[in-house]
Amino acid sequence: MTELIKHSAAALAAKLAAREVSAVELTQAHLDRIAAVDGGERGIHAFLHVNTAEALAVAADVDERRARGEELHELAGVPIAVKDLIVTVGQPTTAGSKILEGWHSPYDATVVKKLRAARMPILGKTNLDEFAMGSSTEHSAYGPTRNPWDLDRIPGGSGGGSAAAVASFEAPLALGTDTGGSIRQPGAVTGTVGVKPTYGGVSRYGAIAMASSLDQIGPVSRTVLDSALLHEVIGGHDPFDSTSLTDPATGLVAAARLGNVKGMKIGVVKELGGEGYQAGVEARFADSLEMLRSAGAEIVEVSCPNFDYALGAYYLIMPSEASSNLAKFDGVRYGLRVLPEDGPMTIERVMGSTRAAGFGDEVKRRIILGTYALSAGYYDAYYGSAQKVRTLIQRDFDAAFAQVDVLISPTAPTTAFKLGEKLDDPLAMYLNDVATIPANMAGVPGLSLPSGLADEDGLPAGIQLLAPVRQDARLYRVGAVLETMLEQSWGGPILAKAPALAELAKTTEAK
Ligand code: GLN
Repeated sequence: MTELIKHSAAALAAKLAAREVSAVELTQAHLDRIAAVDGGERGIHAFLHVNTAEALAVAADVDERRARGEELHELAGVPIAVKDLIVTVGQPTTAGSKILEGWHSPYDATVVKKLRAARMPILGKTNLDEFAMGSSTEHSAYGPTRNPWDLDRIPGGSGGGSAAAVASFEAPLALGTDTGGSIRQPGAVTGTVGVKPTYGGVSRYGAIAMASSLDQIGPVSRTVLDSALLHEVIGGHDPFDSTSLTDPATGLVAAARLGNVKGMKIGVVKELGGEGYQAGVEARFADSLEMLRSAGAEIVEVSCPNFDYALGAYYLIMPSEASSNLAKFDGVRYGLRVLPEDGPMTIERVMGSTRAAGFGDEVKRRIILGTYALSAGYYDAYYGSAQKVRTLIQRDFDAAFAQVDVLISPTAPTTAFKLGEKLDDPLAMYLNDVATIPANMAGVPGLSLPSGLADEDGLPAGIQLLAPVRQDARLYRVGAVLETMLEQSWGGPILAKAPALAELAKTTEAK
């Protein structure tokens, strides 16, 4: 494998600026890597679409502009992958669903416009659980993505494609979306970094909505600084998104470069640990706390008692909103249309046969659940109660942040499980998000970074940092310190320890 693609986005940006490498060479190196490791029977399958010609054209344009001495964005020429839930002109957007197979958006998402303005070549669209519903990417209608650490394991979900692309050096950066953990949990199980910004901090215009009160677009990367760099590209107010903040977080890159925890109070959430958490995940979590303490942070325990009900409330609110958001896939407006085989050709029957054929089991399960929770007789008992629990969770966060600067927990209770292991057990699948969901319920920002390898299986575990609304900079500040100390203890980046990656590297060399 060419060493070039192993560098962080920040290092690649510096090489481009110093003209040690051209944007075309850099983009081509990533396209070559995708060609070598993504396809085939045992390929990573992080990409649903590869955008070769356009990516190279953008790169060539960057090189020309640089040659003319034009002032360029720091990340100009650094390639990126985009989760296929985010709409893009010139490439299909499927949301991982058959119902949108081959569909092209007539407009770009705001975040995509921002990538284009920064002149970042878009390598392609990454795989996901259908409409972002899942924790393993196995619910994609286009087949699962494999975890680069062990090809028989899941890369997390719903954004397994983005995380696996970054972990396998197919892309230095990617965009994800996080409704209940879909950026952070894939980060944890692939040994990468993922950030869910403050709700409203990054425009959701052009992200196909799953649950609008929870959805957030965010960065996926291999380092904390790289996520901060990308976060600053995509963040900011957007008049096209009515939930967009007018004063989103700033100073993210500066915070990642500063990386200092002296005198900071860090709260360990009592409820996010213990029963159901793998011993190796907890052991690496404990090591990280020790490191933060040695760097001068004060570690205290805090209790957020209502977090115990977050998962239950989420699985009422999210399906309710999703059932409404997905009503627009009706066989008339977008994508697939399946006509009934016999009987009258009414609009309802065309809708019914289209949705029956176009949606997968998990999407149907959630539409049924959401429709039920919202139905007149049950609204107060289910949806209404879940909204009250949501308020209690927000109050838990308020009380906790009155005592500490950031909160900390494992990102996911376990390391990557085997493909197929939880596919027939929706409840076991849902439990993966037990630690990530509270942040979405309250709109607070969260960052996941690798905490080390669990002793039982040698697979990466993740650690999650949570900060108050708009205080995203704190995540980068603390995350950068922890990352530096952890990497010192490992003698380099954690991905150097991935056995399947070494195998994949041979594949690239052979080509
Ligand atoms: N895994 C969670 C779910 O299935 C979260 C999904 C997400 O964040 N998009 O709902």
